[in-house]
Amino acid sequence: MEVVRQPAGGELRARQLRARDMLRGDLEGADLDRFVEERVMTTTLERAVNWASSNSLFPLTFGLACCAIEMMSIVASRLDAARFGSEAWRASPRQADLIILSGRVSIKMAPIVRRIYDQMLEPKWAIAMGACSSSQGVFNNYAVVPADKFMPVDLHVPGCPPRPEALMHGILKLRTMIQENPELGWRARYHAEGTTELAPAQARAEGEPPGAQGEPARGASGENAGA
Ligand code: SF4
Repeated sequence: MEVVRQPAGGELRARQLRARDMLRGDLEGADLDRFVEERVMTTTLERAVNWASSNSLFPLTFGLACCAIEMMSIVASRLDAARFGSEAWRASPRQADLIILSGRVSIKMAPIVRRIYDQMLEPKWAIAMGACSSSQGVFNNYAVVPADKFMPVDLHVPGCPPRPEALMHGILKLRTMIQENPELGWRARYHAEGTTELAPAQARAEGEPPGAQGEPARGASGENAGA
């Protein structure tokens, strides 16, 4: 491939001269207004924060079963999650804001997974990857429990296993949701604020709502809660 250096066009030169005039204080009136309008962008702090957090999702280093093998490949060169700021997998839930449930969760594991989710700091997001964590998958028995039964899930990625491209598509959907309408997230829809884990005494003092402290979220049966 031949790389050709193009000479700078007249438009670039005109912009350079306008910038020079502005710095000298020579730009006034309508010219100054147009210069500012072309270069200044206004937004709200909330939108700026959402934009930043959606482009720097830190997934938890956390795999459950076969789906996890597909999940691992999204950081490799083919899909390269780094393009969207999601390559920094964190070993501690305190430093992660995205948990990907990549595989089946047994009833015995559910409280542990929920506790890991509770240890993540707000704002945080959860993706149920694959049929098992979304709907028990092929395991038509009492041992496997869908993630919705014990914790909030923001997005489901179907498949058994979903291809890495499907997971990447899910992460991009989540990114769009955070940027455009975070209200679509589970916690906002169900007013489930404050799911970050607190010490029991602190939680009582702060009037922590049901669903926190490792208690089951909506739809959880007593059977699951006791497991
Ligand atoms: S959805 Fe399929 S690939 Fe994923 S954990 Fe379940 S059985 Fe394994």
